Amino acid sequence: MKTLNVAGQKVLVRVDFNVPLNQSYEVTDDTRIRLAAPTIKHLLKEGAAVILMSHLGRPQKKLKADGSIDREKFTLAHIIDVLSDHVGVQVKFAHDCIGGEARSMSDALKPGEVLLLENTRFEPGEEKGDESMAKSLAALADIYVNDAFGTAHRAHASTAIIARYFSTDKRSFGFLMESELKSAEHILGQPDKPFTAIVGGAKVSDKILLLERLAKVADNIIIGGGMAYTFIKAMGGDTGNSLVEEDRVDLAGSLLKEDADTATIYIPVDSVCAAAFDNDADRAIHRSMAIPANWMGLDIGPDAIEDFSQVIADSKTILWNGPMGVFEMSNFALGTRKIAEAVAKATSNGAYSLVGGGDSVAAVTSMGLSDQISFVSTGGGAMLELLEGKTLPGVAAIKGDE
Ligand code: AMP
Repeated sequence: MKTLNVAGQKVLVRVDFNVPLNQSYEVTDDTRIRLAAPTIKHLLKEGAAVILMSHLGRPQKKLKADGSIDREKFTLAHIIDVLSDHVGVQVKFAHDCIGGEARSMSDALKPGEVLLLENTRFEPGEEKGDESMAKSLAALADIYVNDAFGTAHRAHASTAIIARYFSTDKRSFGFLMESELKSAEHILGQPDKPFTAIVGGAKVSDKILLLERLAKVADNIIIGGGMAYTFIKAMGGDTGNSLVEEDRVDLAGSLLKEDADTATIYIPVDSVCAAAFDNDADRAIHRSMAIPANWMGLDIGPDAIEDFSQVIADSKTILWNGPMGVFEMSNFALGTRKIAEAVAKATSNGAYSLVGGGDSVAAVTSMGLSDQISFVSTGGGAMLELLEGKTLPGVAAIKGDE
């Protein structure tokens, strides 16, 4: 973005301001606004007039009883004050994104000023990747910047299709998008070895492509969370009532077999088990291969924490996606917390670490460890697809290889 000549130009920036709001429509977590601010401030400093567009929620999926858009709930007007604070100027607001108000306010916008357009998803064409909507948006500005990594895996009008209307020297990634892409490249390009991937979360089925890819590039794959029990079943273990995807047992078995010539796969040797899926249920530590009937593994056990922490400590590159247990329940959060600490410690000893994927990011953030990780990704689904080796439409559109 630094090479763009933006002075005196109107720059349309696709940001991700899909922030959580409370019942009074106040922003409860401004992370996404804070992370977009450097790009906006840079453009203002360079003399651009900045037009911002974003989606907020899923207004087309949550229509009012009469079938109309719930404008009161989903308007981006809710974020104006917080946004103005972050960018240091009073942000103007247009009540549409491709209508007359957006056009006249964009025309009148001066260098150093910021205009926020209304929720792009109020338009039915946004999620359909509608050409005419993209063209109308493009007509508002001279230059297009995409800084919305969280929606880069969608071929929507404002995230991908719009880029066709700007020549390569008039379109660019923003700083946030650039750093997300660089961190994924760091991991997937030529990672310093040993490269350890930690994959957790509920299901194998959500992470098949990731696991298959990692099996070829990682030295170690640590498996935790609910998905571990499908692997344990494949190894012939007794999993009791733990989460097992019967239709993925063969796949887990074949990943374990590939183990010999590619990555070493680590499975938790013990588990914190519970008699029910409840924070207050009876608890006991069992070997993961021998979980009694009626008990379920809800977290990795103390021996697994020790094994995994040792592998992490010996690593030079670390990728972490997905929690080690049901970390939302305090009695099953220790495994995730200890792994977060191990990753932070390895990072302070010189390893490169990337934490990506909603729940592991939430764990690291809630523990206050974000600044001890090399890169914490903001784009859950987008980062997962990037790591799986998919081409993201929003990225391809800027690069010109869609
Ligand atoms: P994911 O979105 O795939 O990363 O999965 C995250 C979810 O997996 C969280 O809500 C966890 O509570 C859940 N999870 C982690 N470990 C287990 C487990 N052992 N059994 C059931 N659910 C789990």
